[in-house]
Amino acid sequence: MIQARQGIGMTSRRTRQRMIQRLKQQGIMNPAVLEAMAQVPRHVFVEEALASRAYEDTALPIGFGQTISQPFTVARMTELAVGNRSPGKVLEVGTGSGYQTAVLAHLATTVYTVERIEALQKKARLRLYDLKIYNVKYDHSDGGWGWSKHAPFDAIVVTAAAPEIPEALLQQMALGGVMVIPVGDGRDQVLKRIVRSAEGCEVENIERVKFVPLMAGRG
Ligand code: SAH
Repeated sequence: MIQARQGIGMTSRRTRQRMIQRLKQQGIMNPAVLEAMAQVPRHVFVEEALASRAYEDTALPIGFGQTISQPFTVARMTELAVGNRSPGKVLEVGTGSGYQTAVLAHLATTVYTVERIEALQKKARLRLYDLKIYNVKYDHSDGGWGWSKHAPFDAIVVTAAAPEIPEALLQQMALGGVMVIPVGDGRDQVLKRIVRSAEGCEVENIERVKFVPLMAGRG
């Protein structure tokens, strides 16, 4: 058992580098995002039985009917949300495995992450703690309401699809802030980027995506 774990440890840096090369080929350009993804060991965010598949460009189950997003999606959302800035406060809706949280924590001063399924968030919190990632605050709640106590946020990343952009999240964007959110129903979802300026909010459609749905209430 211990040997198997060491095996993954030894090869994971190399397979992670391959994942980074693939992300570059897929068009991810931001060096800070690529570096953050090179730092975070994705295999600790999936069940041990799936660890050998952690660096494939695929979504994987994390329990409770939820999935860890594929690496390209995490890279793309992070790149869109962060741009060329180093954001102060980032709100993440949908902690899930905590993988995207860890990537964001490498780039932001503080990440505020909200998850409705308590057991998932507990696991994620332990993983990040083990990785010595301490600049994350956790809330077990319905993230569709944001986290008003810590608003406004420089970036908001929503990792579950909403039927429409939640008003509460728009309210919690800082001036110059960016939100990245999949919008739509099960089959027909579009990733949107919203930029808030003094004139209002500008909404841009990025690409078609497939996310689990944003659910109302706590799980
Ligand atoms: N970023 C995650 C992706 C997890 S999938 C990762 O990298 O692993 C989306 C997550 O959003 C699930 O864990 C799901 O439970 C959560 N979720 C769905 N609706 C939610 C809501 N209203 N508030 C908070 N979390 C929500």
